[in-house]
Amino acid sequence: MGRKADKDSGGQTGKDSVWTEIRTPLRQCMGCGRRAEQKSFIRIAAGKDGSLFVDLTGKAGGRGAYLCKDLACLEKAGKRHAFSRSFRSRIDESLVAGIEKDLREALEIKK
Ligand SMILES: [Zn+2]
Repeated sequence: MGRKADKDSGGQTGKDSVWTEIRTPLRQCMGCGRRAEQKSFIRIAAGKDGSLFVDLTGKAGGRGAYLCKDLACLEKAGKRHAFSRSFRSRIDESLVAGIEKDLREALEIKK
């Protein structure tokens, strides 16, 4: 907080931070719609068999969607049918319920 990089041309970090800012794509939470960098979200990925899983690496193949590290957003996303929209296929409510446990565990690990 409060770091001023713009006038500090002598440092070695200036170039890095500028590029990170430009090149970091923002993701959006399916639950509350908040936009932020990927690292502040949990990625939910869809397997080839149509199952959903919590993608802790953030790099699993296939479609992915993002949630805040908050179970409330999973709930909101379920109610908004955001999963079906994000994955462009019909995601059954039971699948959403199924990842709740995994998400809960993931949140414990990430704390
Ligand atoms: Zn959210």
